[in-house]
Amino acid sequence: MVDKKKIEEAVRLYLEGIGEDVSREGLLETPSRIARMCEEVYGGLDEDADVHLAKQFTVENNEMVLEKDITFYSMCEHHLLPFYGKAHIAYIPNGKVVGLSKLARTVDVFARRPQIQEKMSVQIADALERNLKPQGVMVMVEAEHTCMTMRGIKKPGSKTVSTVARGAFRDNFELQKMFMDMVRG
Ligand code: ZN
Repeated sequence: MVDKKKIEEAVRLYLEGIGEDVSREGLLETPSRIARMCEEVYGGLDEDADVHLAKQFTVENNEMVLEKDITFYSMCEHHLLPFYGKAHIAYIPNGKVVGLSKLARTVDVFARRPQIQEKMSVQIADALERNLKPQGVMVMVEAEHTCMTMRGIKKPGSKTVSTVARGAFRDNFELQKMFMDMVRG
């Protein structure tokens, strides 16, 4: 759970640290506003993806399931600046599937915390493997990192792409290409 008092205190110190006057009108409510915001943007820390993925349905036909363009917002754990973009998830069932909204929920659980993109991609794939025991999983995340675009090397529009391929996807380039074509198509 977010400790709002601690965050308010920290934000006041942060503002003082950059030389701001924390008592000026525009900043008066900033600490409490950020504390409330943290409950939302870091809410994934209190959630368990396994809970969302527990409700499963039996299927006869084990064809690839793809949910693409799942928009997400996360916070880079090195700068606490947003990175955001899209996640694409595919899996080949092994008799079980989950509701499509659960894939989006799984992305949110791992996005709403201090995070790095590569780890998030792995965590999503791990959660699917652990819960559904599918024949294969592939996850691709494409994101813009504001810590790279508004500071540092300042390359607006550049995207970081990370992929994870497991099981049947791992060494099967045809399947990986099919995934890519479906994501791009
Ligand atoms: Zn960063």
